[in-house]
Amino acid sequence: METKILTISSDTGIEERISSLSEAGEIIQKGGLVAFPTETVYGLGGDALNPESSRKIYEAKGRPSDNPLIVHIADIDDLNNIVSEVPDFAKRLADKFWPGPLTMVFNKSDKVPYQTTGGLNTVAVRMPSHKLARDFIKAAGGYVAAPSANLSGKPSPTSAKYVIQDMMGRIDMIIDYKSDEDMDIGLESTIVDTTGDKPMILRPGYITRKMVDDIVGETDIDVTIMNADSKVAPKAPGMKYRHYAPKGELVLVAGDADRAIEYINKQIAAYSKDGKRTGIIGIDEFIDRYNADSVKNAGSKEAPEQMAQRLYTFLREFDDENIEYMYAHVCSEIENSGLGQAVMNRLLKAAGHKIVRLD
Ligand code: AMP
Ligand code: MG
Repeated sequence: METKILTISSDTGIEERISSLSEAGEIIQKGGLVAFPTETVYGLGGDALNPESSRKIYEAKGRPSDNPLIVHIADIDDLNNIVSEVPDFAKRLADKFWPGPLTMVFNKSDKVPYQTTGGLNTVAVRMPSHKLARDFIKAAGGYVAAPSANLSGKPSPTSAKYVIQDMMGRIDMIIDYKSDEDMDIGLESTIVDTTGDKPMILRPGYITRKMVDDIVGETDIDVTIMNADSKVAPKAPGMKYRHYAPKGELVLVAGDADRAIEYINKQIAAYSKDGKRTGIIGIDEFIDRYNADSVKNAGSKEAPEQMAQRLYTFLREFDDENIEYMYAHVCSEIENSGLGQAVMNRLLKAAGHKIVRLD
């Protein structure tokens, strides 16, 4: 299949932007697939109400079809068409966090095919804050099913370059948005299940548990989120799959900074001696102290949002650089912050839960 790359930048004139987006929207309405930017990561969009489109999304990603898709909307009034009920606390969360990086799970209406929900009676819905994403969703008819635009198992793409790497020849169009504007989060949305008595966080993200608590009073969290070998199945089916993983082996190192840096450098030195290519994701405050073939600066220990923004790019770059052994240094400041929980969840998955704790 030929994949058209549509470039839109902040300099693109309004008329050209509208005609480009209507071309993209038409592809969706005809049952095709278009990758588009959002404020979290790039999405791989298809018509959420067309079962054949959802089937194509699974095929393009190589994703198991029991892993449900998130339906993206651009207008809150469209929510009622695809869900059977919106509990009061979900209305309050939508008021506060939509448009934005929050996905909510509801009981679905008959309009949503089971192909989109991975066979579930529930549907996950999000309204992105990214303006271009919302304009695209409107042009596409209002309901765009979109997982992250990566091949299954790989890190989610935070730039068009990596969408092109994974999806060229597999989908109809990729919107290459040449602007940093709005795509500033870098991790997938927080997922909250609203079908129980209380909201339950199924996947941590930029919207933290505390932020949800502040609106609704009390929130549960799926126990499987941080757990290595829990026998309990995660409530968000996608969380059970290997995810976000680089090709090489990643190990996390937590605890006292001096000891962690010493430990990491020692391990790396041993691998280097064997002729292996090595990488480190390090903290800005200590960046001069790490030694490896590739050292990535994850930003300040006081600013987990920087690590969130950069993480997937680093994992992809390690692949591009053929790095075989990697260490990520995680400080307690990051681990203990609200957003740090989302960062740790992705890091733990990328590392296959390999973590060394030095106290
Ligand atoms: P991705 O689109 O790659 O960010 O993945 C979507 C995530 O949303 C997956 O982890 C899914 O398991 C989760 N999800 C989608 N729909 C539902 C649902 N109805 N119930 C629970 N989790 C869902
Ligand atoms: Mg994904």
